[in-house]
Amino acid sequence: MDVPSKMKVFCCKLCSNAIPSRHNLWKRSCSPTPLCFLCGIEEESIEHIFFGCSLVRGIWFECCFGLRICKEHIQSFDAWFAKVLSNSGGVEGLSIRVVFICWFIWKMRCEVIFGGKQVDINGAICRIKLTTQEYLAVKNECLVERVSKVEGSVVEVWGKPPVGWVKINCDGP
Ligand SMILES: [Zn+2]
Repeated sequence: MDVPSKMKVFCCKLCSNAIPSRHNLWKRSCSPTPLCFLCGIEEESIEHIFFGCSLVRGIWFECCFGLRICKEHIQSFDAWFAKVLSNSGGVEGLSIRVVFICWFIWKMRCEVIFGGKQVDINGAICRIKLTTQEYLAVKNECLVERVSKVEGSVVEVWGKPPVGWVKINCDGP
């Protein structure tokens, strides 16, 4: 799977249930409660953090079109993720999107717990969409031409042409 190495490590931890969810910490007597830090209603298992928590469900709806998250059918993260990997052939970058979403859900949770920030679902959705789009664009070696308006002028940044295309720079007529 072609994602940044920090996300690969994170994903391995998720699949082996090795992240410090409150439920995991509570089992080791390192947390006074197993309940979710964000909603405070259900036990904070890995599956709850990423699929079950009412606060994050909108993120999947907005960011991963074509993938239905049905928490009742998700027994464990690793079994579910194995299914995503084996079925993602038809949807471009599906497994990559899934990893990015999980990464940013975890990041948002950590920012709330350790950074004292408010839960910001819309902010997380924007970050996920932007980062995933940029990553997939660069990965697929698409033409990345960013045209940004700076004080009324248009600035074009050269980007790699798609595979099979040759880009020729010339001075114009
Ligand atoms: Zn929750």
